[in-house]
Amino acid sequence: MILTVTLNPSLDSIYFTETFVLGEMNRCGNPVKAVGGKGINAGRTAAILGAKVTAIGVLAGINGDFIRSALNKEPFFATHFLSISGESRNAVTVMDQEKNQTEIVELGPEITADTAEKVLNLVIDLSKKQKKEPILALCGSANTENDHLYQHYLEQLGGISKVLTDISGKQLKNILNSPVKPYFIKPNIHEFAELLHTTIKNKNDVIAHLTQPLIKDIPFVLVSCGSEGAIAKYKDRIFDVSIPAIDAINPTGSGDATVGGIAFALDQGFSIEETLRYGMACGMSNALEQAVGFVSTDNVEQLKKRIILRDV
Ligand code: ADP
Repeated sequence: MILTVTLNPSLDSIYFTETFVLGEMNRCGNPVKAVGGKGINAGRTAAILGAKVTAIGVLAGINGDFIRSALNKEPFFATHFLSISGESRNAVTVMDQEKNQTEIVELGPEITADTAEKVLNLVIDLSKKQKKEPILALCGSANTENDHLYQHYLEQLGGISKVLTDISGKQLKNILNSPVKPYFIKPNIHEFAELLHTTIKNKNDVIAHLTQPLIKDIPFVLVSCGSEGAIAKYKDRIFDVSIPAIDAINPTGSGDATVGGIAFALDQGFSIEETLRYGMACGMSNALEQAVGFVSTDNVEQLKKRIILRDV
């Protein structure tokens, strides 16, 4: 069983334009509309691959109603979303013909202490019902004044689930400083640089920083590097993960799909090599779709064969 938590789902609109010029009128066709949120996307990916998934989170206002009805129509996973006050956020992406991507992302409804506890209790209940330790993916931002929210979740949930996180900023730093460690983190290369307050330009820089005290006790660290693949640290091994060049259509959500692929493979008990292949193939398969947080099982199977792992 895989559980995902999304405290800030979004209503995504993706506009494909010929050009996008700041300060000018930019005309475009109708957007691709989709339900977004890192945990939802990761959960959908894992479910498409065949995992049993429950997506948990919060929804608010008219956007929340829209998201809820869209999720109800999805055949892939079960959902438990609490209604809260405010408005679930809009996230707008503009992609021009040169694949420049511009995003406008709202803050989202506030996660109060009460809401945070309700979600936590829901996850605890669902986790305890499972026969086998569930995989729990805590994903994405939360509009909260509590910078230790995810740390609190980790401390409460780490003993009953295998916790994967795809978060950034202060929330990430605080879980890394927590006495209870997550099993897996997936910063992208920019988030990794921000985390370590340093400049990281390429994979060699990533490798050089993998021994930093902040991350040395995390069993599985995946620093994703977009079209360059990723660098992974698993226990005492480091992998340079190379991926083939593809003609990406929309890489939005590729990191989420990567987390979904990793969650699926861990839930299946696959080897670290196979797990990394699933993560990368899912990120790439997502990039080959216009839809966000969506993968094709055929593409994943084909792409997996083209991923090269090198022990560093
Ligand atoms: P995030 O979406 O979290 O910023 P990345 O951009 O690093 O994460 O993407 C995650 C993974 O998705 C990459 O490691 C890679 O496997 C795949 N991916 C992302 N963008 C591309 C791309 N343009 N071409 C091929 N694969 C991509």
